[in-house]
Amino acid sequence: MPIKRLLIANRGEIALRIHRAAHEMGIETVAVHSTADADAMHVRLADHAVCIGPPAAKDSYLNMAAIISAAEITHADAIHPGYGFLSENAKFADIVEAHDITWIGPKPEHIRTMGDKIEAKRTAGALGLPLVPGSDGAVSDIKEAKEIAEAAGYPVIIKAASGGGGRGMKVCNGPEELETLIQQAGSEAKAAFGDATVYIEKYLGNPRHIEFQIFGDGNGNAIHLGERDCSLQRRHQKVLEEAPSPVISAAERDRMGGVVSKAMADMGYRGAGTIEFLWENGEFYFIEMNTRLQVEHPVTEAITGVDLVREQIRIADGKPLSVKQEDIVFSGHAIECRINAEDPFTFVPSPGLVTNYHAAGGMHVRVDSGLYAGYRIPPYYDSMIAKLIVYGRTREGCIMRLKRALEEMVIGGVKTSIPLHQKLLTDAKFLDGDYSIKYLEQWLSEET
Ligand code: ADP
Repeated sequence: MPIKRLLIANRGEIALRIHRAAHEMGIETVAVHSTADADAMHVRLADHAVCIGPPAAKDSYLNMAAIISAAEITHADAIHPGYGFLSENAKFADIVEAHDITWIGPKPEHIRTMGDKIEAKRTAGALGLPLVPGSDGAVSDIKEAKEIAEAAGYPVIIKAASGGGGRGMKVCNGPEELETLIQQAGSEAKAAFGDATVYIEKYLGNPRHIEFQIFGDGNGNAIHLGERDCSLQRRHQKVLEEAPSPVISAAERDRMGGVVSKAMADMGYRGAGTIEFLWENGEFYFIEMNTRLQVEHPVTEAITGVDLVREQIRIADGKPLSVKQEDIVFSGHAIECRINAEDPFTFVPSPGLVTNYHAAGGMHVRVDSGLYAGYRIPPYYDSMIAKLIVYGRTREGCIMRLKRALEEMVIGGVKTSIPLHQKLLTDAKFLDGDYSIKYLEQWLSEET
């Protein structure tokens, strides 16, 4: 049965993004919202809206029973979880499917496998993806840990199997620190994630973060849509992303894209996914897989012309992929700036009333945002309030256009990260594409 009414279990710009794809496919939408989001743009634009609880995410956007009830009373036949919130919750995916509602996402078993970092690494290795050298699973015995660290070579990084969001990691520089750091990492992981399991990896000194967008139909066919370079990060949070990566050649993209799409085909993966790698000295090292749509997906859309949300909905509906690998042409360059409501240099959040708003426009400029003049940014959620995505035929042209678009953006009444992006776009290393995951933090400590 084709999807007719889609419930969007999310808020903000991604809820709007999904609403737009659905309406372009003739599908009605149901917004769910907390009491804090009653006036949000995604609620205004959706065909139906249901309030699912108070502001705290655990009582609303993470409240599975309330969301399922909202789907039942509105007769929604599908749920799209967006990113964050319940998007990588295998239990929620199971519950949705058990209610005969179409889950717009991967098979729950794949969400589960990839959600456990040790299991994910083991699976990726078995599928032929290159791994960061390190322990073959959990480490508990200190003698064994020392042997593994010795073999990988110091420094090593101790990571929590259940970690996420850049938390639960410790860098260890030598054997004398290893035992203490493993114990610390384990007890911190237990406190934060309820699971003390840790593993060891070689710590790469100066890598880039390069990720591949993939799509599977769940029946053994998969394609890749090239890579994104997300190396500009602060505290492991991405700030600006670009596609293609300035350091990956077309031949390397085809080769590595072939490796990841074959792995996903062999796995029988369904829907959108992202395989994240660290990249150093020409080598890729798998770190994790995200079994959902990513914030930065529009840069891939800009250089391939493929609507990723439309594709997700089609696959969930049992349709084949609308494009074959040979149909995908990578053309030009795209950059996304994440615009947050925060001080651009101290990063202190700045929620509150948006007194005036003007979105940049013009050729090849896209703004994904739920902002409008008179909107009050609530303090309860992520500070990202807009994404500016710009395309150009060349990287230089894209950067010129991005500078022009940033000049046009007006978000009054709150502080935003626009000045940070403007400053970064004049940096010589950025302009040369010469940066690693360490670069932004170094630059911030020198420039501000
Ligand atoms: P999370 O799920 O918490 O985001 P990841 O495994 O994706 O954890 O790692 C987050 C970030 O930590 C990476 O983008 C990178 O900056 C850093 N990192 C992770 N593993 C390594 C490693 N082996 N060497 C160097 N840096 C690493």
